Amino acid sequence: MLKPSATRSPLDASAEFRAAIRTWFEKEGRDYPWRRTREPYAVLVSEVMLQQTQIATVLGRGFYTRFLERFPEVTSLAAADDDSLLKAWEGLGYYRRARMLRETARAVIARHDGRFPTEPDALLALPGIGPYTAGALLSFAFEIPAPLVDGNVARVLSRLLDHSAPIDAGPTLKWLWDIAGQLLDPDHPRAYNSALMELGQTHCRPGVPDCLACPVAHFCQTRDPARLPVKAKRATIEAIDEHVIHSLHEGQILLSRQGKGRREGMWRLPVRDPALLADLPLLHRRKYGITRYRVTLHVHSCPPDHPAAQAGPDDAWVDLDEIATRVMPPADRAALAALDPDAEEIA
Ligand code: SF4
Repeated sequence: MLKPSATRSPLDASAEFRAAIRTWFEKEGRDYPWRRTREPYAVLVSEVMLQQTQIATVLGRGFYTRFLERFPEVTSLAAADDDSLLKAWEGLGYYRRARMLRETARAVIARHDGRFPTEPDALLALPGIGPYTAGALLSFAFEIPAPLVDGNVARVLSRLLDHSAPIDAGPTLKWLWDIAGQLLDPDHPRAYNSALMELGQTHCRPGVPDCLACPVAHFCQTRDPARLPVKAKRATIEAIDEHVIHSLHEGQILLSRQGKGRREGMWRLPVRDPALLADLPLLHRRKYGITRYRVTLHVHSCPPDHPAAQAGPDDAWVDLDEIATRVMPPADRAALAALDPDAEEIA
């Protein structure tokens, strides 16, 4: 259903627009733990966690609070070893983000004596800090006017201004940052940026938005919000199979430590060439997604004297009661939880 187009543009009536969205946010904004702090390190942790991970996941499973208890300040994070860092991040995925967060902490200590800089250029020069994170730190931690554009803000702005070019194309990205800068509230950047993001998480959600309850509907130029934002064609999802072994011997299980790459430092069930596993029964099967892949994980039962169970340089026999302390990708963890030495064959 088409909605009426508003007669006022947020660009022409920016003061009224800012006041409307801020008043709404002050009354109805959600109370997240990261909104109760102005500590830049805590703001940064929340922002990095929320990249690609839902708020409900970060909150519901206590990741944010637990991480800050484990690493309460830049110094403790900078000193973290790989195992404790990945363990604290386990379940959030995208483990490179955790390592990059540690790199940021180390650079803050090395370059700025452990205090986050408040100049945009100095922030942007830190590893792992892009324009979005710099805008979040400046506005949320320091109340310095700085625009930010994430997926929620991009959706809201493209609808408010009825902009139908693909939002993930270079010229539109530039346009979005320009508009975000023009509309920014110079006196209340923290509340304003939070409000814009919150609007995108609530009323102006993906798909069909709730325009009737929207606090800035009278500024919104689009008549057909559900078709916005337009996105460039997505990469196609590719289905792949992964064959791993479940090999037990005298209270131990064979695991494989991952080398360079997305899962560096994590422990997995050893991946083997399926040709080597032709004579082994299948114990378990599950699907999971990673980047643009839809993976089917096949877990084969493998006796310890089978050629596939020969430990390679990255493999190790690990005590079964130690598994909980090893950092593992969620799919491997879930497969192990579903299995025990008496599991029945399924094929
Ligand atoms: S919720 Fe509707 S009225 Fe409000 S900004 Fe989004 S599209 Fe416009």
